Amino acid sequence: MAKKSKKRTVKKSNPHPIKKKTKVRLPKKVKHGRKISTVSVPPKVQSVESAKSSKHNPYEDVLHNFELAAKKLNLNEELAQLIRTPDRELRVELPVMMDDGKLHSIIGYRVQHNNARGPYKGGIRYHQEVDIDEVRALASLMTWKTSIVDIPFGGAKGGVTIDPTKLSMGELERLTRAFTSKIDLIIGPSEDIPAPDVNTNAQTMAWMMDEYSKSHGYSPAVVTGKPIELGGSLGREEATGRGVCIALREAAKTYHLDLKKITVAVQGFGNVGSHTARILEQEMGVKVVAVSDVKGGVYNPRGLHYNNAVNQLKNTGSVIGLKGCVKLSNEELLELKCDVVIPAALGNQLRGDNANNVKAKLIVEAANGPTTVEADEIFASRNIMVIPDIYANAGGVTVSYFEWVQNVQRFRWDYARVMSELEKTMTSSYAAVHRTSEKYKVSMRIGAFILAVERVAKAAKLRGI
Ligand code: NAD
Repeated sequence: MAKKSKKRTVKKSNPHPIKKKTKVRLPKKVKHGRKISTVSVPPKVQSVESAKSSKHNPYEDVLHNFELAAKKLNLNEELAQLIRTPDRELRVELPVMMDDGKLHSIIGYRVQHNNARGPYKGGIRYHQEVDIDEVRALASLMTWKTSIVDIPFGGAKGGVTIDPTKLSMGELERLTRAFTSKIDLIIGPSEDIPAPDVNTNAQTMAWMMDEYSKSHGYSPAVVTGKPIELGGSLGREEATGRGVCIALREAAKTYHLDLKKITVAVQGFGNVGSHTARILEQEMGVKVVAVSDVKGGVYNPRGLHYNNAVNQLKNTGSVIGLKGCVKLSNEELLELKCDVVIPAALGNQLRGDNANNVKAKLIVEAANGPTTVEADEIFASRNIMVIPDIYANAGGVTVSYFEWVQNVQRFRWDYARVMSELEKTMTSSYAAVHRTSEKYKVSMRIGAFILAVERVAKAAKLRGI
């Protein structure tokens, strides 16, 4: 276990310029885990951080979908206001000593959206484009996701605005420890449980767990997605990808697609995309014709070989150059002539400007927020089905819940038990989302939101507002 470093007073050479101007809300007062003040910021008001740029705001998309669901449910406005926006937002400044001796000041966020159904839960993302609205959107999606798969958690998300590919292991560790100690006051096994997301992994979770344990005692249940040796769950690493494959299998039944005959393109070849591609090809006999990473993609209409793609990535740092394949861009991959597209990288990939070019019949959202509201409307008008992120990628948080249960009970489940529970959860949740969308005559996305919002609203009401 790493030793706690002595506290050091640092003179910040470059205080972050956002700091003085920011209008990010102060943490709300929370008493015994329950809110005692109402949210004062109207949902469409942008923070200074988001107002600075005119880029797509994913939080507005989530709010749009929430409103559609709330309307269908005739949700009382006071209750809607309570569960619509985040409970608490924490912005932290992280002084990190770089290997060259220079001190960098890096910004991080933890947004706790809702804990009506249980402790806040959600991953930590390291990316240069992380901002408060992205973290808010992702935190809100987590509330709806945990509700859909009916696990006793709420929703949260964390993010650090940094390109981690430019950091050494030592720098990454110092950054992770600094972030953990700054959010230490609001996380905990019964309060808020982080997990990996884009550019973070089991090692990141090991550092977080260690840093938190220094002040709270050995606490494996404070994070999920840990290495197996530190209390991680068997099957957690592949869980999101496996859940995506179950989602595709169930959707194929609804839309009468023969898994043995369809072709699939997967955007992103990280944790989620690579496990999805592997399980589709090696276990389900589905033809994966294209995969990509941040540098671009590869396409072979006769099907790729997963093992070759992994070796290519290992040997060269990208899937590009895979033998027998044509190179293509990430944009071209989404517009390929194939039956199913699985975005498994970042958000905002399927938009108003490219949705009309998509040729697939079915989109299974492995990534969070890959489809904008505008694109959703185009897909609906073109009869292209979308299996929404808040259901399709919920396998990760489901097995995170199993990991937490094992940690709390100091007990280990075998791999078969984890997989069988995941299978049950993903299958029954698909049926529930599909039933709801049929009942209300809405898309699978809005059906999923209705199901989720109804459960959260009921819990909030029962606990007392
Ligand atoms: P990861 O960091 O392991 O992999 C990300 C992949 O996307 C890499 O292949 C990377 O090269 C690629 N990528 C990065 N930027 C890109 C760009 N601009 N265009 C195309 N490709 C790009 O991350 P991950 O854990 O696999 O997460 C992928 C998505 O799945 C994210 O949206 C994440 O929020 C979501 N998700 C992850 C989990 C999980 O358990 N890890 C759970 C639910 C949802």
